[in-house]
Amino acid sequence: MKIYNTLTRKKEEFIPIEPGVVKMYVCGPTVYNFFHIGNARTFIIFDTIRKYLEYKGYDVKFVQNFTDIDDKMIRRANEEGITVKELGDRFIKEYYRDADNLNIERATSNPRATEFIDEIIKFVQDLIDRGYAYEVDGDVYFSTKKFKEYGKLSGQNMEELQAGARIRVDERKQDPMDFAVWKSAKPGEPAWDCPWGKGRPGWHIECSCMSQKLLGETIDIHGGGMDLVFPHHENEIAQSEARTGKPFSNYWMHSAYLNVNNKKMSKSLNNFLTAREALEKYDADVIRFFMLQAHYRNQLNFSGELLDAAKASVERLYNAIGNLESLLDEVSRKELNDKDKIFVQKLEEYKQKYIEKMDDDFNTADAISVIFDMVRDINSSVDVESSKELVETSLNMIRELGKPLGILQKTTKGSLEEEIEKLIEERQKARKEKNWALADKIRDDLKERGIVLEDTPQGVRWKKI
Ligand code: AMP
Ligand code: ZN
Repeated sequence: MKIYNTLTRKKEEFIPIEPGVVKMYVCGPTVYNFFHIGNARTFIIFDTIRKYLEYKGYDVKFVQNFTDIDDKMIRRANEEGITVKELGDRFIKEYYRDADNLNIERATSNPRATEFIDEIIKFVQDLIDRGYAYEVDGDVYFSTKKFKEYGKLSGQNMEELQAGARIRVDERKQDPMDFAVWKSAKPGEPAWDCPWGKGRPGWHIECSCMSQKLLGETIDIHGGGMDLVFPHHENEIAQSEARTGKPFSNYWMHSAYLNVNNKKMSKSLNNFLTAREALEKYDADVIRFFMLQAHYRNQLNFSGELLDAAKASVERLYNAIGNLESLLDEVSRKELNDKDKIFVQKLEEYKQKYIEKMDDDFNTADAISVIFDMVRDINSSVDVESSKELVETSLNMIRELGKPLGILQKTTKGSLEEEIEKLIEERQKARKEKNWALADKIRDDLKERGIVLEDTPQGVRWKKI
């Protein structure tokens, strides 16, 4: 399996440190607000990578943090008149609600920065002791010049970085590129006791610290959105490798942006749609399909039309699932005949193609094309003449290949029942409002689909004829 490594700027064969195990850390959200579908793209991409690694048989230790202390958290908590902790608690709950609804599997661990303060202080002290960090009036800065490889992830040397940087001149820093690993307390801000007075951690240090504590000194994969390459991940590398003298992560993966009119979707540009709003209109399969139809390293433009197109594509796939589910009740022959056996072989070939695409740096775009080719073939080759085993094998194969993408796992049977219940409710409402025409239309439409309604003293019942 090959993974594109931002650090080396090439695709490399993936070799985990421990055979069969993948240690993976992905930078998570700052929990001061609902997350938008730009953030969701990154979460869905790394969830898919994790699911695919699991599909390949790896035991994936997946850590994604919650940044629950920073300037934005403090500002928002003040605006709302609540504590930073209360704000964090609330939006962590909201995160889980939306992430669960997007079929994003819960991480092995979701550490909160504020739960690791003691560990972070130890980390900062180690950096000072080793000569990589210095304290000025309660603030602690990382000395970028001391870390000779600073710039290796973003591919810039110190001179280029300094020339390109629009950094506020801060007299207290030894070099403009130095960054805060610890910030002294300002009035009204949450603060913790530390050897340098009172203060709170900088943003970058939390990831270095929690990754090391939960996954060890060197991990297999570190991920996040493209915007995190510099300075966040560059700084994480500097801190972690300065402390341990070992590589922090063997593979660095970055997902490209979800854009609106070719501009990154972001809170600051106010061009965002929250995941919650998107989920009101589209279900998780559609949103995931939309995100995964592009390669994760290619930018993707968001628009309502593209989501509608994704919806139509997902419906086509579910129609095939629906057909197969109905065929299960209709076919009479049980075992495979020779013709069926040839088709089972073909299904295996589609699976191998799909694996080839996914093994090539998680090419979900091509993997989805393989699923479409396969479904087209199933639609024209599997019918009432097929054996039950062939119908089952076809259905299972669609589900198997959809699983790492987090799509195509639903049954159309349940949804048919739900749909009918909903139509019955609508009919009852129409009758109450004496809208007999609508009530009759709903009944007739259902009848056409082979569903008859009976009015009983217990309410409306339906049956299939
Ligand atoms: P934040 O809460 O802003 O720290 O973002 C959480 C994650 O979402 C990070 O990995 C970001 O890189 C990622 N992210 C933010 N905006 C976008 C976007 N428009 N497209 C893709 N990923 C994004
Ligand atoms: Zn991070």
